[in-house]
Amino acid sequence: MKAAVYDSREKLVVLDVPMPQLGANEVLIKVVNTGFCGSDHSMIESGSLKDGTIIGHEVSGTVTDMGGDVKDVETGSRIMIRPTYCGRCRECGSGKPYLCQVDRRTIGLGDFPGGFAEYLKVDPRMLIPIPEGVDSQNGTLAETFAASLHGIRCSGKEGGSALVIGGGSIGLALVRLLKIMGFGPIALSEPVEEKRILATSFGADAVVDPFNENLILRTMDETGGAGFDTVFECSGLGESVQTAVNAAANGGTVCVVSIIMQNIEIVPVVLNFKEVWLTGSYSNTHEENIRCLRWMAEGKIDGRPLITDYTGLDDLPHVYRERIDTGRAIKVMLKIGEEF
Ligand SMILES: [Zn+2]
Ligand SMILES: [Zn+2]
Repeated sequence: MKAAVYDSREKLVVLDVPMPQLGANEVLIKVVNTGFCGSDHSMIESGSLKDGTIIGHEVSGTVTDMGGDVKDVETGSRIMIRPTYCGRCRECGSGKPYLCQVDRRTIGLGDFPGGFAEYLKVDPRMLIPIPEGVDSQNGTLAETFAASLHGIRCSGKEGGSALVIGGGSIGLALVRLLKIMGFGPIALSEPVEEKRILATSFGADAVVDPFNENLILRTMDETGGAGFDTVFECSGLGESVQTAVNAAANGGTVCVVSIIMQNIEIVPVVLNFKEVWLTGSYSNTHEENIRCLRWMAEGKIDGRPLITDYTGLDDLPHVYRERIDTGRAIKVMLKIGEEF
C-alpha cells in the first residue's frame, strides 16, 4: 500500500509499504480522509521521529477486516479514531480518560502507524462511529472541534464574553462552538485576513487584527470596559499568554489551548489584581468527539470551510514544504480513499 512516511532528510516521502498484519483483537481500516494536524507538523520538526514512521491521527475510514477476537464491529462501518483508555485508573475515575496511560493505544503518535496511508490497523476500542448525515471530511474534522470543545470545558465557563487569540483551525473551531453554545460577545484576534473573514462566518461578533490595532483597547470597547470573561490562547505564541491575562475581566479565566513549549515571562501581579484563573487544556474525550459529530449531523457545525488545501498522498511532501511548513494553510485535508 501507499504511505507518506517520515524521513529525516526529506521530512515526508511517499513509499510503497507492507499492508498492516492483523492480530486477533485488531481491526483493519481503509482510510478515506486524513487531516494534517498542527501536532503532526511539530512532531516532524522536532526530529524525534524514526525514519519510516507513519504519522497522522485525524482519520475517517471504513472497517474492512478484523481479527477473530473482535466483537461488535461490523465490516463497512464508517468510523473515526481516538486513543484508548482503561476506564479504571485514577485519571479515568476522575473524568479525565484522555490522561490515562494504562494500556494506552494511539495511531500516528508512535504506537500504531497513522493515517497518512491507504490502510491502518487499530484496537477496536478506538473506533467512534460517524453518524448518518456526517461526511467523511467532517468525520476527520470532528477531533479538531472536540479539542476546542475540551478547551471550553476546561475553562469551566458556560457562557459570557469570550476572546479567542489565534485563528488557526482550533481557534476557528472554538469560535463556532462558542457561538452554538450561547457565549457572547465573541471576538477573535488574528493577523491573517482570510482567517478573520472565516471567523465572522463562524459567528464571531468582532475580529481584531493585532498587528494594526491595539487588542486591549478593542477588548475594552467590545466588553464595555470589563474585559473578557474567558480568553482562549490558540496562537501558540508565548507572549500571547500575557496578552490573554491582560484582556481577561476581573475573575475571568484564561485557558491556554495551544501547546507552547518555550519558557515565557508573565507578570503575576495581574493575576492578583484581577483574580484571573490561568489554566490549560489537553486532548479531548470520546464523548466530546461524539458530541461534535452529533452537532455536525444536526447541521450546527460544518468544518469544511477550514480546509484550505485538499490533496492526495502523492502531493503531501510538496504541500508540506510549500503550505504547512510556511504556515500558509489553515487545514490540509488528504483524500486517500473514496469519500462518503
Ligand atoms: Zn490533532
Ligand atoms: Zn485509565
